[in-house]
Amino acid sequence: MPRDLFHLRCEKCGRDNYVTSKNKRTMTEKFRIRKFCAACRTHVMHKEQKISKG
Ligand SMILES: [Zn+2]
Repeated sequence: MPRDLFHLRCEKCGRDNYVTSKNKRTMTEKFRIRKFCAACRTHVMHKEQKISKG
């Protein structure tokens, strides 16, 4: 199964706070989740950001 790594990027400050992976076959939608951002010091929406390899 192909699994790609993604950053979860804060939509407010643009900082990459988390690394996650997802299965391309089962998760085709853009991943968005509400998570804590240490820079914003609050919970904000984070959006997936593909990690470029190499
Ligand atoms: Zn932030």
